[in-house]
Amino acid sequence: MKWFYRCPSCDARYDIVPGRYLCDACATRQQVDRPLAGVLEVEWEGDPAPGTLPLPVEAEWFPPIPVGNTPLWAPVRLRAEFSAPNLWLKDDTCNPSGSFKDRASFLVAAFAKKHGVQEIVLASTGNAASSMAAVGAAAGLHIKVFLPASAPVAKRIQVLQYGAELVSVDGNYDKAFDLSLEYSNRTGALSRNTAYNPLTIEGKKTVAYEIVDDLVKAGASAPAHIFVPVGDGVIIAGVYRGFENLLKLGRIATIPIIWACQAEGSSAIARALALSHAGSDDFGAPQSSSTIADSISVDVPRNGLHALSKIKKYGGRTVVVSDAEILAAQKTLSSGSGLFAEPSSSAAFAGWLKVRETIPATDTCVLLITGSGLKDIKAAALGLGLEQ
Ligand SMILES: *Cc1c(COP(=O)(O)O)cnc(C)c1O
Repeated sequence: MKWFYRCPSCDARYDIVPGRYLCDACATRQQVDRPLAGVLEVEWEGDPAPGTLPLPVEAEWFPPIPVGNTPLWAPVRLRAEFSAPNLWLKDDTCNPSGSFKDRASFLVAAFAKKHGVQEIVLASTGNAASSMAAVGAAAGLHIKVFLPASAPVAKRIQVLQYGAELVSVDGNYDKAFDLSLEYSNRTGALSRNTAYNPLTIEGKKTVAYEIVDDLVKAGASAPAHIFVPVGDGVIIAGVYRGFENLLKLGRIATIPIIWACQAEGSSAIARALALSHAGSDDFGAPQSSSTIADSISVDVPRNGLHALSKIKKYGGRTVVVSDAEILAAQKTLSSGSGLFAEPSSSAAFAGWLKVRETIPATDTCVLLITGSGLKDIKAAALGLGLEQ
């Protein structure tokens, strides 16, 4: 098999080597305060062994930590309560650091090991940092993270506990992003910045393979709808990538309808889709984000352009929920299923609650539960009406 990066905008090809992040030609179109231009995708030529999950780094380099293969399970009481016989939860809180981000960290760490790179640097709102720190600890890599001082305390503690180097940023995620890029450009450390490093998107595709395999094993029908919490738009792009692969391999017949679930106070991709329906392909000026769901709180969605092009190509949809709806959904999900999800993931459930009556009741719906509720106790306490 031959692996390479391909630019989805201009079709240029690049080798998958350290130091290659964006498409040279398309990155020149980068505008200030707009999503990344020139985000690359991983592509292959040749035939993977039947039934395997093709990835651009060989398994011998995988870090010794069990990422992915998380449970897909039936929330029986929620199914009954909401007359949704084919509702499924994909529980990525079971990843080692408690979030979906481990899927990306795993592939980036494998790539670093393969190429003898010792240091990985990144900016994060919290989960990417705690995830990279955990996987880096397993792999024996030096991890440096730039984290806004406002990140939830559990995520900061995780970073330190796993032995990573924490740089607390007096400013928001955008500032942390810039500082981390400056550091990787200066030192040659491998950047794991989300979307900027194409392997972050590629690593996240594994969830689509698992969902399809597990539904087949359960004798269920192929997924019709996937609900994904969206901030920067990398998870949703990874999910699309996985289904595109499965289509290419003949393992599915169609791409499911993917719902981008966003918080009212951070809904750049939903706004851009509406603008695009009105004939404009611009993201407009960034709006200052404000939501309880810190993991999906971004002013500028880094992977906005790429994610939006996928949503448009495959007829994906957006649903926007308020913080009150997110907190109510968090409680409904916890008490109705036993799965305590952080606010971002509760936004996926809230999104489903909001639109479920518009989709056929028997359609197979999968909710991506991306992060553990224990990562942000303060938000959950607010939802319960407790003082913290
Ligand atoms: C990062 C994250 C998201 C959002 O992913 P994006 O790629 O930023 O859209 C959702 N849920 C959790 C738990 C996350 O950590």
